[in-house]
Amino acid sequence: NMSRKFCVGGNWKMNGDQKSIAEIAKTLSSAALDPNTEVVIGCPAIYLMYARNLLPCELGLAGQNAYKVAKGAFTGEISPAMLKDIGADWVILGHSERRAIFGESDALIAEKAEHALAEGLKVIACIGETLEEREAGKTNEVVARQMCAYAQKIKDWKNVVVAYEPVWAIGTGKTATPDQAQEVHAFLRQWLSDNISKEVSASLRIQYGGSVTAANAKELAKKPDIDGFLVGGASLKPEFVDIINARQ
Ligand code: PEP
Repeated sequence: NMSRKFCVGGNWKMNGDQKSIAEIAKTLSSAALDPNTEVVIGCPAIYLMYARNLLPCELGLAGQNAYKVAKGAFTGEISPAMLKDIGADWVILGHSERRAIFGESDALIAEKAEHALAEGLKVIACIGETLEEREAGKTNEVVARQMCAYAQKIKDWKNVVVAYEPVWAIGTGKTATPDQAQEVHAFLRQWLSDNISKEVSASLRIQYGGSVTAANAKELAKKPDIDGFLVGGASLKPEFVDIINARQ
């Protein structure tokens, strides 16, 4: 749908060093990036300032996590205020790795989203079902539960992008087919219409994530309810440029 600006996020996860980040920045700086795509780079917190100085200024920069309060005795955590202070304008929240490895609950993630938005960050709010949940026929139920948790805390959706990332497709090379992804995106669009508003349903961008590559991005990008991608592995490679340009 052309009324929603295509939005592609790169999630570097816990990868990269000064040398490789400089190389990625050079690739992105010299490439012709589709001006109709909004691009956001999710960089390890410790390199955000470094990446900000090297990346083209029209690219957004995201933390990959942030705590639910501005400051205090929370050893090891970073706050949305800190992300803003060093030039990040986005944060990725609720990634399946945060949920599965670090035990983050729907409720904590929603509180983090509420606070990040209040601090003026834009949020990529991740959701997605596991393989076990999909095979049990629970995909819609799971993504609805995750959306419901966000909706209890998010009152204004204008600075939110939802990333639908089936867990079985993340880092596995098993991409959802365009039809499989579209089916869930359409369900989410309807859920938003029924539970939030028609306006939010029409305007909120829903990214697909899970083994997106230059080879499969174009077909996925044709689907009416897929408004961009959240890209892990391929965002570290030159092919990320082709994913950004998938609508061309
Ligand atoms: C991700 O980390 O959000 C992701 C989708 O990873 P990958 O593209 O490597 O599957």
